[in-house]
Amino acid sequence: MNIAILSRLPHLYSTRRLVEAAQQRGHSVKVVDTLRCYMNITSKNPEVHYGGKKLDHIDAVIPRIGASITFYGTAVVRQFEMMGVFTLNESVAISRSRDKLRSLQLLARKGIGMPITGFSRSPDDVRDLIKIASGAPLVIKLIEGTQGIGVVLAETTKAAESVIEAFMGLKANIMVQEYIKEASGEDIRCFVIGDRVVAAMKRKAKEGEFRSNLHRGGSAELIKITAEERKTAVKAANAMGLNVAGVDILRSSRGPLVVEVNSSPGLEGIEKATGEDIASMIIEFIEKNQHSMKTKTKGKG
Ligand code: ADP
Ligand code: MG
Repeated sequence: MNIAILSRLPHLYSTRRLVEAAQQRGHSVKVVDTLRCYMNITSKNPEVHYGGKKLDHIDAVIPRIGASITFYGTAVVRQFEMMGVFTLNESVAISRSRDKLRSLQLLARKGIGMPITGFSRSPDDVRDLIKIASGAPLVIKLIEGTQGIGVVLAETTKAAESVIEAFMGLKANIMVQEYIKEASGEDIRCFVIGDRVVAAMKRKAKEGEFRSNLHRGGSAELIKITAEERKTAVKAANAMGLNVAGVDILRSSRGPLVVEVNSSPGLEGIEKATGEDIASMIIEFIEKNQHSMKTKTKGKG
C-alpha cells in the first residue's frame, strides 16, 4: 500500500513509529505536513496537492491532527475522503472528538457513564450550574482545551463562582463537571483499535496535582482493566465513529466514567508503559479494512 501520514512533526515518536511499522510490513509510506497540503475543491476531480505535485495513488491516510490545527486538518482529511481514500479516522469523527461538549452529548446518547456535567452561557446562571454539577469541589474545563491545560479544580463554591465568571468574562466556552474524588489523581487510558482495547495504562498525577496528563508531569504504568471498562472504552470510540482512539476513563464508585475520547492518541506513553507494538497493530488494521470499508462518510461532514 501507499500510506500517507498527515503530521506536522515527522520526528515525533508517534510519527516515527508509524513510519517504521508501515515499512516493516512492506508498505511505502510518506509523511505529509498537513498545513502544506492544498486542494482544489471541484465536484468531478477533487485533488490534494503537496509541494507542487498532486498527491495521488494513496491507498490510506493516517491523520495525526493536532488540536491547534483541527479546522484545516479536518478539511484536508475530508478532501481525501471525497477522493475515496481510506482514512484511519474520518474527519467528522475527529471534529466530534475535539469538542468536549459535543463528545459528551454523543456519549450520553449511547448511555455511556460520565461525570455529571453542566454547561451554560450566562454568568447569571452560575449558581444553579454549580448545583447541577453536584456542588464544590468541582472541575471547570475549557471546551477546547488539551493536555490538561484549561482544566481547573475549584475546591469551594466561592472559588468555583470566581473561576467560572472569569472564564465567561473572557468569552471562553466552559463546562462544569462533578469532581470524581475516588479517581484520586488517576485515570486509565484505553487504546482502542477497531472493536478492541489493544492496550491500557494507568496514569497517575504527580504529587499535589489532580490531572493525570503525562504533559502535566503524570506517570504511566501497565494496568489490567475490567471487562466493564473494556466494553465502555470500545463503546465510547464507536459512539464517536473513531477507528483508533484513546479513551480516558476515571474509576468511580459508580463504575467507569469516560472523560475524554482522543482521536490522535500518542503512542510513546502507551507503547513504553505496556511494551506493545501499537504502531504495527494500527498498520495491520489498515491492511484489513482499507478495501472493505473504504470511507464511510465520503467527506459528508
Ligand atoms: P484534557 O483534554 O486537557 O486532557 P481532560 O478532561 O482529559 O482534559 O482532563 C485532564 C485530567 O484531569 C484527566 O486526565 C483526569 O486525570 C483529570 N480530570 C478530568 N476531569 C475530572 C473529573 N471530573 N474528576 C476528577 N478528575 C478529573
Ligand atoms: Mg485528557
